[in-house]
Amino acid sequence: MKTVLAHRCAGTEPLLMSITRNKTMYSFTYNASSTRVLFGTGTVSELGIELERLGLKRALFLATPGQEGYVRRCASSVGAVAAGVFADATMHTPVSVTEDALRVVRDLDIDGVVAIGGGSTTGLGKAIAWRTDLPQIVIPTTYAGSEMTPILGETADGRKVTRSDPRIQPETVIYDVELTKTLPRGAAVASGMNAMAHAIEALYAEDRNPVVNLMALEAISALYGSLPQIAESRDDEDARAKALYGAWLSGICLGSVSMALHHKLCHTLGGMFDLPHAELHATLLPHTLAYNSPAIPEVVEKLCGVFNQRDPAQSLYEFNQRLRIKTTLADLGMAKDGIEPAVDAALSKPYKNPRALERNSLIALLRRAYTGNHPAP
Ligand code: NAD
Repeated sequence: MKTVLAHRCAGTEPLLMSITRNKTMYSFTYNASSTRVLFGTGTVSELGIELERLGLKRALFLATPGQEGYVRRCASSVGAVAAGVFADATMHTPVSVTEDALRVVRDLDIDGVVAIGGGSTTGLGKAIAWRTDLPQIVIPTTYAGSEMTPILGETADGRKVTRSDPRIQPETVIYDVELTKTLPRGAAVASGMNAMAHAIEALYAEDRNPVVNLMALEAISALYGSLPQIAESRDDEDARAKALYGAWLSGICLGSVSMALHHKLCHTLGGMFDLPHAELHATLLPHTLAYNSPAIPEVVEKLCGVFNQRDPAQSLYEFNQRLRIKTTLADLGMAKDGIEPAVDAALSKPYKNPRALERNSLIALLRRAYTGNHPAP
């Protein structure tokens, strides 16, 4: 059976062959990321050297309330260069929190930020950098991938506004596999699916290119091969290293090419209903891939190869179940009467998408996601 699938789903087809078939791939733009990356175990001990490398003298350390203790210990470990800790980072980067942090930046005469945490903490560092152009060091503790992008999503008055600017791209990222060990099981696997969503949308981005394509497939394969082990045990260091490697690549994909329907729906629902970001990505991904699948046969073929199954959207749906992620919008706290307003909001400022965006089909998509139905065949 496996051999038959391998023949049908030629996901391992050499890249050059797919370039030849898809002429548009001959013409592309590629920008390499400017971020310096350290990856390994125990790498957080390099923080002092990296602060010095950037010439920082008065850094502000950022954290969520839940990670404040750890971040304070990190700050103490580098001595006087740690000028203060601001531990109010919040999901979806509310502008009001950024304004509080900016007051601290001014009061303490800060010359750079160190964000230690998940996408929420990274988001706060980026929001500060966008307004002040201060250099950033990010030490990610989830698989969100935000640290590798020049993208900032901020929320005010129930609306999430996303912008991209070179000032937002962090100068240095220190990946330390050790730091993902404390991430609770459910949060870890949902965060891995957030990374998976970046890589999957990169495969059909209108401005995709062969390098990002390679990174995306490698990222999907690394995440697909490691998240089930993490779902079983946080102690599996190899699995956490593989997932963090996948998250790094996914972050580059997200920062390099434009995203489509999936990210648009997540940004819209996240901003309107304050839903948990990673779980929302995990919930919607099988449905958005099912929606786009008829328009992206080459991508479907490649994903068939990675998942070794015939229907990648269905594979992702089953994968979520295997990872025991909450996968209904109802469970995530969305009100059912929010579906139509959310679709209208998404359609009012859509991202480019391979398949035309049809209001009724999108309402049907969100209804399926709301109740946790299988993705549309
Ligand atoms: P998060 O940063 O909100 O973290 C979730 C919770 O887990 C927090 O309470 C945090 O303190 C805790 N946590 C994080 N790492 C931990 C660890 N190792 N051990 C114990 N607890 C830990 O969640 P997230 O999913 O990483 O980030 C979501 C945010 O990131 C959203 O606001 C989203 O918009 C943003 N994001 C932005 C981009 C981008 O490129 N701009 C990309 C992805 C996500």
